[in-house]
Amino acid sequence: MILLGSTGSIGVNALKIAQRFNLDVEVLVAGNSIALLNEQIKAFSPKIVVVANKASVKEVHHPHVLYGEEGILEAIHSSCSELVVNALVGYAGLKPTLESIKLGKRIALANKESLVVGGKFVDTANITPIDSEHFGLWYLLQDKMIDKMTVTASGGSFRDTPLEQLSNVSVEQALNHPNWSMGKKITIDSATMTNKLFELLEAKWLFNIDRLDAIIETKSIIHALIDFHDGSSTAHLAHADMKLPISYAILGKVEEQILTPVDLTAIGSLEFRKIEQDRYPIWEIKDDILKNPHLGAVVNAANEVAIAQFFDKKISFLDISKITVDAYKKFYDFNPRSIEDVFMIDHEVRAFVMK
Ligand code: NDP
Repeated sequence: MILLGSTGSIGVNALKIAQRFNLDVEVLVAGNSIALLNEQIKAFSPKIVVVANKASVKEVHHPHVLYGEEGILEAIHSSCSELVVNALVGYAGLKPTLESIKLGKRIALANKESLVVGGKFVDTANITPIDSEHFGLWYLLQDKMIDKMTVTASGGSFRDTPLEQLSNVSVEQALNHPNWSMGKKITIDSATMTNKLFELLEAKWLFNIDRLDAIIETKSIIHALIDFHDGSSTAHLAHADMKLPISYAILGKVEEQILTPVDLTAIGSLEFRKIEQDRYPIWEIKDDILKNPHLGAVVNAANEVAIAQFFDKKISFLDISKITVDAYKKFYDFNPRSIEDVFMIDHEVRAFVMK
């Protein structure tokens, strides 16, 4: 396989699956965690390695090291692996997804931003999502009429924080997720609920369905629910561990135990909550963006810049959603006719938010 983002939270778990099932890793792509990358090179002997920056190349213990976006695209192009695991974070994942599709490769896609940003122009035929909620939805699918699909949210780091304290929370507090151990960006997206907005868009492109919703389930045991037209509903339950969706996305079929089953008597009870706009201001645009999913490109660009500013302590936690909603309104008329329009709006929105 070609593994993009090998040093991240999903990447490290993908390598555990590769090790367990004895899979070849032809390409490793990482950003700046060079020490971990060198350990992975030793363990998996890839043919090609790619890092984010030219300056890091000389620190990598490998004879064939490329760098930057061009390096990632070249590595995908020149490798013979049929499977690309895209676990890059953010907009950086979009072009590698498009390139993999062009080359007819199968994609195990953790990089949900690829669909959020470019969904209108992304052929999902060869894509299997690495997202617990979409894996759950896929697991529940039957040949029956569906009324509605629901994904669950944990509520993120501030689900119980008094509302009046939200404007003063710190980066460290925001990174303290109650249920999942994930990369920094998605942890902030969970706290603002932007991650769930992204997942609704992801579900729309993957399953081509309009009746979509999200609710909070505080223990992250139920990941997805489907209401069928006959009046019955089914739910997907599993412990909060990405190895299950990763295994399916990589292997296609799984017959060994990946996780221990959920013991409901040990869990005792489950709690469900509505996603309220006063705690999660991004929810203001939820219904509208599902009617205009191409605006995901605007939301993603504004959100990425705002998160970077939050990490730099230039803006407050609540500003992330405010900036994103403002950009949504400002660029509301955007309607892309090609993927090039999407690349262009990404630039424009970033410039607008940074000024
Ligand atoms: P991490 O931040 O943990 O990992 C991101 C990976 O991408 C790292 O290997 C990082 O390298 C690499 N990377 C970032 N920028 C570049 C670049 N410009 N060039 C090359 N490599 C780069 O994120 P996660 O693993 O948490 O998330 C990855 C994706 O999966 C996201 O889209 C997220 O939304 C999605 N996802 C994650 C889940 C999770 O449980 N973590 C669950 C569902 C979806 P380095 O660290 O070396 O700098």
